[in-house]
Amino acid sequence: MVFFEMVKTALKTVIHRPATILYPAQAAKKTPISRGHVVFDGSKCISCSLCQRKCPSQAIVLDKEAKSWQIDRFRCVVCNSCVDTCPTKCLSMDTQYTAPVSVRGVEVFTITYVKPPKPEKKDEPKQ
Ligand code: SF4
Ligand code: SF4
Repeated sequence: MVFFEMVKTALKTVIHRPATILYPAQAAKKTPISRGHVVFDGSKCISCSLCQRKCPSQAIVLDKEAKSWQIDRFRCVVCNSCVDTCPTKCLSMDTQYTAPVSVRGVEVFTITYVKPPKPEKKDEPKQ
């Protein structure tokens, strides 16, 4: 029985077209919910650093002193976690895949607003 199942599967494979494509020579199939790459809009960022904390691959680095927001595309696994987390919706997911590159690079964006540090708590007087 196992033999016939195997022959059936082999024949199906011969008849049907392959499930894979020769990417990037052949354009990848996309849908409206395809995850291509993360897009950042620095004008809406409030430097809360939630995206950095939620990123499972440490692809995002927020530097408040340098007023910069960076993403390492080689580290990003396009999980959408940062997009879901961002409270101001300045992160979005584009369906366009990034072009293949051979050199490692980090994309750096400038942010305009930097969240002020929390005021230090005053010690309560002891009784
Ligand atoms: S999509 Fe996922 S892996 Fe990529 S930067 Fe956002 S949280 Fe990190
Ligand atoms: S991109 Fe969004 S989540 Fe990340 S620091 Fe800016 S406002 Fe916060």
